[in-house]
Amino acid sequence: MTTTANLPVVVIGAGPAGLAAAAHLVERGIEPLVLEAGSSAATAVRAWSHVRLFSTWNELTDPAAEKLLAPTGWTKPAAEIYPTGGDWAEQYLQPLADVLEDKVRYGATVTGVSRLGRDRIVDADREQQPFTIRLTLADGTEERILGRAVIDASGTWSTPSPIGADGLPALGEHAASARISYRIPDLKDPAVRARYTGKRTAVIGSGASAFTALATLADLAKNEPDTHSVWILRRGISGSTFGGGSADQLPARGALGLAAKAAVDDGYADAVTGFRTEVIERTDNDRLVLVGEDGRRLDPVDEVIVLTGLRPDLSFLSELRLAQDERLQAPVELAPLIDPNQHSCGTVYPHGHRELSHPEKGVYLVGMKSYGRAPTFLAMTGYEQVRSVTAAIAGDTEAADRVELTLPETGVCGGAGLFDDPAAGQADEGGCCAPAPALVQIGTGISVPVAAAEDTSSGGCCGS
Ligand SMILES: Cc1cc2nc3c(=O)[nH]c(=O)nc-3n(C[C@H](O)[C@H](O)[C@H](O)COP(=O)(O)OP(=O)(O)OC[C@H]3O[C@@H](n4cnc5c(N)ncnc54)[C@H](O)[C@@H]3O)c2cc1C
Repeated sequence: MTTTANLPVVVIGAGPAGLAAAAHLVERGIEPLVLEAGSSAATAVRAWSHVRLFSTWNELTDPAAEKLLAPTGWTKPAAEIYPTGGDWAEQYLQPLADVLEDKVRYGATVTGVSRLGRDRIVDADREQQPFTIRLTLADGTEERILGRAVIDASGTWSTPSPIGADGLPALGEHAASARISYRIPDLKDPAVRARYTGKRTAVIGSGASAFTALATLADLAKNEPDTHSVWILRRGISGSTFGGGSADQLPARGALGLAAKAAVDDGYADAVTGFRTEVIERTDNDRLVLVGEDGRRLDPVDEVIVLTGLRPDLSFLSELRLAQDERLQAPVELAPLIDPNQHSCGTVYPHGHRELSHPEKGVYLVGMKSYGRAPTFLAMTGYEQVRSVTAAIAGDTEAADRVELTLPETGVCGGAGLFDDPAAGQADEGGCCAPAPALVQIGTGISVPVAAAEDTSSGGCCGS
């Protein structure tokens, strides 16, 4: 039998959650090994470097990480500033990865995780076996390493949801891929700006990412009059469509919805509601026509931006015994606490290692990935998760069970759950950003409305 005691805890992904997990492990004297697919830290965050976060610096750094950084002379950026994704990566995440030195390996894509010599069927001595982690390196070579525990913080960025309201790609979506983007456009990039200038663009989704895209295209339209957007929502417009607005405890998050509303009110975007795209057709002059499940055909557009949520890639965990909720693809104990079918303003109890545990002991999904398709993830949720999980790995049950979670409310509390509108069918965005609120209980006492982010058919808060 291979002994596990001297093996590292393998952390998948050098994003905010993965790097924070490594910092907590170091604080506890446990060796982490962070495996990052990209060539630098925060590869996913860098992909949306042009997007300004709705959280301030005060809500974006982890306490253990700050302690690790302090001796390097690092100083925390001004607490009240809203950084961009690029700022977050450059001013905090990369310096944190740098201080971890060779505990972070880049160009290391995890392609499989299992127990050494035990596929998921085999019971014998299973928990005594170390984890085996399969990697593909940047040059294409494969490698296997062993770990005493695995913290999967690989996020959801690389797997955006498709257009179809049934969760499948719309017919013709793949064929039209050259005209479809799943990301918020960066108009500072001349090629991206040219792509949308003077064009008619459909924006699909109803979370913070879609709000951001609509506001971005409205800004472009102010100077480029032929630029116009069509905002496609699977549900109807209601009081919560634009998020919590001025009632949101994260004011910048509330402002995103208001900016989207202004884009519609000012005539830069037309809203099409209750529209579930079934087919994308190409016209003779190479434009796209969206056809709804109800047979409606929209006027042709030149481009489509899909911000209908992000979803977790569970494929490389298939040899592990995970207990994932069948709807949200989040850990079963966590799912009821974050389920947008049930929580508009319901209580989300504190969660940590217990809610994040699986039948396969020693494996935890944390960060954005832990929320599966639920739309309400915030970075500080991830920091609290990894504090608890690393305490559990260290055997410090008292600290692991203690929950120190405080989250802000969206201001859209009340009324039906996000998915309760029969006209909606399913949520429209997913990530971290806007509407569906929920309550979070802080410590053992007070419940605080919290929430969130986009709805689940669009893309992560931000989505993509
Ligand atoms: C546009 C946008 C705006 C957001 N704004 C806010 C905000 O204002 N406030 C807030 O609290 N939250 C916000 N969020 C939500 C959330 O905090 C971020 O998504 C955050 O980056 C999640 O951190 P993470 O570490 O869980 O995942 P990620 O940041 O996605 O990091 C995952 C890392 O894992 C790597 N990886 C993936 N697969 C593998 C693999 N197989 N092997 C090795 N490495 C792998 C990726 O390259 C990446 O570096 C936003 C999200 C988005 C998308």
